[in-house]
Amino acid sequence: MEFNTRLLHGKAVRKYPDSAILPPISQVTAFRFDTAEEQAKVFQHKAAGFAYSRVGNPTVAAFEQRINELEGGNACIACSSGMSAITLALLNMLCAGDEIIAGSGLYGGSIDLFEDLTKFGITTHFVNHVTPEEIEPLINSHTRLIYSEVIGNPGLRVLDIRKVADFAHAHGIPLMTDSTTATPYLVNPISLGADIVVHSSSKYINGYGNAISGVIIDSAKFKWDFDRFRALDGYRKFGNLAYTIRLRTDIWENMGSCLSPANAFLNIAGLETLGLRMERICSNASRLAEALNGIDGIKVNYPLLESSPDRDLCRTQLKGFGGGILTFRTGSRERAFRILNSLKYAVIASNIGDIRTLAIHPDSTLYIRSTKEQKESAGVFEDTIRVSVGIENIDDLIDDFTEAIRNS
Ligand SMILES: *Cc1c(COP(=O)(O)O)cnc(C)c1O
Repeated sequence: MEFNTRLLHGKAVRKYPDSAILPPISQVTAFRFDTAEEQAKVFQHKAAGFAYSRVGNPTVAAFEQRINELEGGNACIACSSGMSAITLALLNMLCAGDEIIAGSGLYGGSIDLFEDLTKFGITTHFVNHVTPEEIEPLINSHTRLIYSEVIGNPGLRVLDIRKVADFAHAHGIPLMTDSTTATPYLVNPISLGADIVVHSSSKYINGYGNAISGVIIDSAKFKWDFDRFRALDGYRKFGNLAYTIRLRTDIWENMGSCLSPANAFLNIAGLETLGLRMERICSNASRLAEALNGIDGIKVNYPLLESSPDRDLCRTQLKGFGGGILTFRTGSRERAFRILNSLKYAVIASNIGDIRTLAIHPDSTLYIRSTKEQKESAGVFEDTIRVSVGIENIDDLIDDFTEAIRNS
């Protein structure tokens, strides 16, 4: 089954109550039982069932199953936001004293989170781009995780998943990828060796900009050495499933960032057009990048451009696509603001992955907590504009941006 068919007819698409085409929104806090014995069995994980929506809900489960199928994971757990997914994915396997090696061209919120974690004794070392050459000198006996975005937002460097996963595994370290900007349409990181995948499903997965959420997908393939991964000690008997089981029954359940059933429903409805949207969005982004790159004084960053070091990797790993985000430098902060203010169709908003084209000045918004050095290694300069390309007609988008640039 090809991708678009799988979205509508895959294994995870079930028959729902009352023959409904989409899963009903189980907008309840608790589920009733006929007997106390049945309730006890569900609590003790001796019978399947739902008891309380923070711990399990049918609409949320339907969303998790669809994402798990699309990513080829062993289990998927949905969270209240992308940031909660990243936070819980990390806390589930890390203890004070552990170290992470991460790419620097990351989502600003993730960079801030790594900073927050230092107060809990978890240290992150940043490399410019996550490659075996850059990681190797930073690996020591405390290193427990390699973390990278598949297409950095907004750095836009592309991770060579296979190469980095093989290298990490040779050192007994798992690879966690944030695949928000790539989506399961461009690549399944697990199929290339990634161990844990996270997404902000607020973005392309939802697609319509109407719900915040995140997902964690565990491949359950990593062979945890429980003497080194002390966070998972106590889950030894579950072997490869230790990560999922601790997450589901401990960290995720107790930290309480469950996804609301209504938002799970909006994600399922949005998800069904993911393939179509990504095809259009990537094609628009590529054409807009080419068009703007030809304008005097404008420097575009997009993974498929001739000037990009990751062009070949897009071919071999991302089905020839370069994703839906591009950034461009305008010459000055003032000009960047003038351009943003002159756009007719592109909306000034801090989101990505919407069907509408969105634009933002990251230096004065998303990166206000970062140092100059952190910003520059994320590809954020004071004259940078980030564009999340939508599904509008490309000629209108090219006209909108070219006019805004020419008149500014
Ligand atoms: C938006 C985003 C996040 C954070 O997700 P929220 O749903 O806003 O919490 C994490 N990573 C990337 C790459 C993002 O674009």
